[in-house]
Amino acid sequence: MTAAPSAVTIVGASLAGLNAAEALRREGFDGPVTLIGAEDHPPYDRPPLSKQVLAGDWEPDRAALTDAEELAADGIEARLGVRAAALDLAARELTLDGGETVAFDSLVIATGARCRTLAGTEELAGVHVLRSLDDCLALRADLEAAPQRVVVVGAGFIGAEVAATARGRGLEVTLVEALPTPLGRVLGDEMGRVCAEVHRDHGVDLRTGVGVDAVEGGDRVQRVRLSDGSSVDADVVVVGIGVICNTEWLEGSGLSIDDGVVCDATCLAAEGVVAAGDVARWPNELFGETMRVEHWDNAAQQGAHAARRLLDPAVGPFTPVPWFWSDQYDRKIQLAGRVRPDDEVRVVAGSVEERRFAAIYGRAGRITGVLGFNRPRHVMRYRAMIEQRASFQEALAANF
Ligand code: FAD
Ligand code: NAP
Repeated sequence: MTAAPSAVTIVGASLAGLNAAEALRREGFDGPVTLIGAEDHPPYDRPPLSKQVLAGDWEPDRAALTDAEELAADGIEARLGVRAAALDLAARELTLDGGETVAFDSLVIATGARCRTLAGTEELAGVHVLRSLDDCLALRADLEAAPQRVVVVGAGFIGAEVAATARGRGLEVTLVEALPTPLGRVLGDEMGRVCAEVHRDHGVDLRTGVGVDAVEGGDRVQRVRLSDGSSVDADVVVVGIGVICNTEWLEGSGLSIDDGVVCDATCLAAEGVVAAGDVARWPNELFGETMRVEHWDNAAQQGAHAARRLLDPAVGPFTPVPWFWSDQYDRKIQLAGRVRPDDEVRVVAGSVEERRFAAIYGRAGRITGVLGFNRPRHVMRYRAMIEQRASFQEALAANF
């Protein structure tokens, strides 16, 4: 089936799925487009869920990416509150929860990921994960009830941002991380230590190098017991320990699944089937590395790229320089590139002490990444050097 698609079905009605739908229309595709999404809400943006919406500064409607009228105006049929349960590639058929079958011609898989949970805590009142708008509103209600202490488990992105937002609400926060530093797996320990200082300066009780043994309570959570033998009283607990890709519905479909949907360099997973966003794993030829990226910019770009690939087999590989931002307190942290914790790190602008700086990462003679604390201009300039595969020496010599 290399002919142009007659109709496109998109499963997953969030950032990647919506960008795919919009790209199809932008490219002039005028066949039927159907967007199937498990959530009841029209597509909305997740970054404000740990920031403005959780802080109470925005009402949820400001996070909307579109609405029913806009979708209808673009001729996109939205089937919301409907989950795809199975895929039959040979029959080109989807089965939805409830048993309905839907024939498809071309397919975009954009089902993203969901939060990992701490086993046994899922039903305990006061224990939260944060992925969806509904999660956010439930957590927000608990934060508004003036808890004595919030314990955040995991100092990755969710943990660091929720800790900052909860401190912004004046709440007492303990942040627990098994690794030596927050975001250490992403930024390396040297820059992770800078993040640790930022949290401590804002009054977070940061406990690193310690795991969680148990979350205890009766009707509601009461305390978290840590692996060093200590325990912390808590009436709200937020668990931010990473995600699991939503691929169960693809089991037995014949697609290759390996911590995500395995695609080729152009985002094609099978004939007439593409994947995009948090759920997609593909070889990024710019880095010579197979990757899956869990950030906003990638979902938006890859959704559009995958849609173009469906329309035109001549569309080439998807080769972005991954990029993200994270707002914590008054700092905008941005990272572009593909860094490893053991890369060499050099501060190239500003000062770490003032928490306004840019640092570049290098490995095997190449610049691999750039980190900015309130330095967006530097991040974008070094990002261009990463795209050009510049050497680390050239990057160090650049004077931005
Ligand atoms: P998702 O957003 O996960 O959407 C997948 C959708 O598919 C969901 O609506 C899901 O319900 C639906 N679905 C799943 N299974 C099925 C099924 N079987 N049938 C039908 N529908 C299904 N990134 C940044 O770069 N910067 C930030 O500041 C930032 N902040 C974030 C804050 C929060 C709280 C979260 C959760 C994420 C944040 N991110 C941020 C990451 C970014 O939001 C994600 O990378 C992005 O949402 C991924 O989009 P996606 O469309 O691939 O997947
Ligand atoms: P994450 O960034 O992967 O971080 C999870 C953290 O929890 C890691 O530090 C991890 O350490 C730790 N952890 C894992 N298992 C643990 C356990 N059992 N006990 C204690 N700690 C544990 O994931 P996240 O923070 O949960 O975020 C969820 C998703 O949302 C991610 O896809 C993230 O990219 C996205 N998000 C992005 C942003 C942003 O880009 N600004 C903001 C919010 C959310 P190990 O590394 O050792 O496993």
